[in-house]
Amino acid sequence: MSERADELVLVINSGSSSIKYQLLDPESGVVAASGLVERIGEERGSVEHRADGRRIEHEGPIPDHKAGLRLVFDMFADTGHDLAAAGVRAVGHRVVHGGEIFYEPTLITDDVVAAISELSTLAPLHNPANVTGIESTRELLPGVPQVAVFDTAFFHGLPEAAKTYAIDAKVAAAHGIRKYGFHGTSHEYVAGQVAEFLDRAPDRTNQIIFHLGNGASASAVRGGDPADTTMGLTPLEGLVMGTRGGDLDPGILLHLMRSAGLDADAIDRLLNRNSGIKGLSGVNDFRELQRLIDAGDESARLAYDVYIHRLRRYLGAYLVELGRVDAITFTAGVGENSPAVRADALAGLENFGITVDPARNTAKERGARYISPAGAKVPVLVVPTNEELAIARAASRVVAEHGGRSNSVESGGR
Ligand code: AMP
Repeated sequence: MSERADELVLVINSGSSSIKYQLLDPESGVVAASGLVERIGEERGSVEHRADGRRIEHEGPIPDHKAGLRLVFDMFADTGHDLAAAGVRAVGHRVVHGGEIFYEPTLITDDVVAAISELSTLAPLHNPANVTGIESTRELLPGVPQVAVFDTAFFHGLPEAAKTYAIDAKVAAAHGIRKYGFHGTSHEYVAGQVAEFLDRAPDRTNQIIFHLGNGASASAVRGGDPADTTMGLTPLEGLVMGTRGGDLDPGILLHLMRSAGLDADAIDRLLNRNSGIKGLSGVNDFRELQRLIDAGDESARLAYDVYIHRLRRYLGAYLVELGRVDAITFTAGVGENSPAVRADALAGLENFGITVDPARNTAKERGARYISPAGAKVPVLVVPTNEELAIARAASRVVAEHGGRSNSVESGGR
């Protein structure tokens, strides 16, 4: 390997039964190794590890996150990256909910871990898994500084009017109820890339960003600062997603509790796992949805139409909120790869100066690019997101600020 291990950052994104990871150079973005641990705690788990053009797989029971990471570290060693021996510059952990406490990348200490754990009431599916990943990594790489990068951080500065829910203010204050927003690392990264691509000063650029992956969210960014976003107290609000339905009349929940006898767990399952594209069509992967539509499946068609309708509703809202829009950008799995979604989301908006060029939109290019015609009033772009790189850079910055000291240093929650 050409990179020096102690210049690389290990980025970890741990879910309840999975760990996604990447070892990369925070300067160049070059990925030295990456992989995925899946089905932790189930009878048959798996690890897929990629390094230097090689792919190694492991199948067998993986009882917990620590066992999964141990396997991963063995695979690193087998492919020439002995993390424990050579060391890495830092570990960057994606943490979903930073609540009111964390709005900057934060050096991890015992206090920080405890605070992230306490925020689990706001993100019961995500924060406990993030904590497990952090604790396991701290045990396995004790001397390495670890940094938490929060998915909510970028949206901390949302204007009061955008982040306040109009319910009893005392109830909201007592329970931390406000719009926090998620996918912040991606929205912030893409907003920076857009300004660079357009060669505009970020603080003079107004933009609308659609992060359309399995989870999906949109943001309005005014001069580099968040003006609004679709996700809320939790990642359930806003756009239609793979398995989440986004906006609902809250009365639906009351109706289900009273008339169908559903309790909190059943509603949680319904909203997080069995709604959205999957709830309407039976599949959550957009490529499968497209295949069903092509085969004439009517429920798949309706799911697609509802998805596009919601996108356009927020597009309209954000155009008005921003007043002047310098770029509309699509990113993440669906946003980067589905010309149909991009064309349908922006169809018939010529009066607003918004058009999509069919040839540019369907060109098989990767990388940041225009999909609006040359000279269009509102540039429309596709910009690949790279959350891992953004996390690696943030972690590297925090370590530099703390003089490269390890996670035994107290940083305090911010
Ligand atoms: P992400 O969460 O960003 O990884 O995005 C996952 C989503 O992107 C899934 O719904 C995929 O089906 C979708 N996706 C990936 N590639 C394509 C493609 N070529 N066309 C349409 N959707 C895609």
